[in-house]
Amino acid sequence: MRSTAAGTEGHLLWKSAQAMNLRDQSGALALQTDALTKRFGDKTAVDAVSIAAAHGEILGLIGPNGAGKSTLIKMLTTLLPPTSGSAAIAGFDIVREPAEVRRRIGYVPQLLSADGSLTGYENLLLSARLYAIPRVERAPRIRHALEVMGLADSADHLVQRYSGGMIRRLEIAQSMLHRPQVLFMDEPTVGLDPVARQSVWQHVRQLKVALRTTMLITTHYMEEADELCDRIALIHDGRIADIGTPDELKSRVGPGATLDDVFAHLTGVEIESQGSYREVRRARASARGHG
Ligand code: ADP
Ligand code: MG
Repeated sequence: MRSTAAGTEGHLLWKSAQAMNLRDQSGALALQTDALTKRFGDKTAVDAVSIAAAHGEILGLIGPNGAGKSTLIKMLTTLLPPTSGSAAIAGFDIVREPAEVRRRIGYVPQLLSADGSLTGYENLLLSARLYAIPRVERAPRIRHALEVMGLADSADHLVQRYSGGMIRRLEIAQSMLHRPQVLFMDEPTVGLDPVARQSVWQHVRQLKVALRTTMLITTHYMEEADELCDRIALIHDGRIADIGTPDELKSRVGPGATLDDVFAHLTGVEIESQGSYREVRRARASARGHG
């Protein structure tokens, strides 16, 4: 066993995942990383991260801007090679078996991906082709995805007329058409108003129930993570500062603690008050642009 805190944490998690029978029939966890590390020059963006997620679990990844959340997701989605360490999705190694990994994952990137000049249905049809979903299955899968994400009535409207929350829900619908085992969502609600954010989360919950998809979701919003996530990993300076159920994390800090308190306690950072946070929000808001 490694002596680093992250390594120990990973080992413990791995043990508890085993104890809780979180593996599928083949014995694989939905997601597992072992001392996963990414350096950019002398900057270590992700520093020996060891985490695991069970099948059907929603794992929240919370941390201030620059903490390493997107870099971690990019490695797990095979878009960025790790510097060291390893990771597996449904038992497939992200470096040695990237095609197997890609087949089993969905990715909702931080920046906008839906095409405003097409209807919701047309966007979904493009994704269905991209994922090589057999022709006969396309229409039923698209219909199901529209229903789960609450877009059935807007399917034939141009996406440029969608609200920000509807666009995000469409992007999530696009990312689940091929029934991924693990869905990665990077800041799915940043830049959305509270009502739209609520609608995204509500449908993410529905998605979890409908398809039992494992999800790794990054967010700045503690109260959302608290409500939605089965477990939360707090990431700071590329390292996992703590991981557990929202109640476990809070009870470690003290009675009446909120997740914001947990975060401030672990990192000394008041997450919502960061200047960089506002920048992300503004970028997201202008990217949204479709009214
Ligand atoms: P987050 O998503 O938590 O805001 P990122 O993963 O985007 O954080 O970034 C983590 C750190 O790595 C930051 O310091 C960022 O500047 C740096 N970084 C990210 N991508 C690159 C890159 N392609 N080249 C150099 N540095 C990068
Ligand atoms: Mg990011």
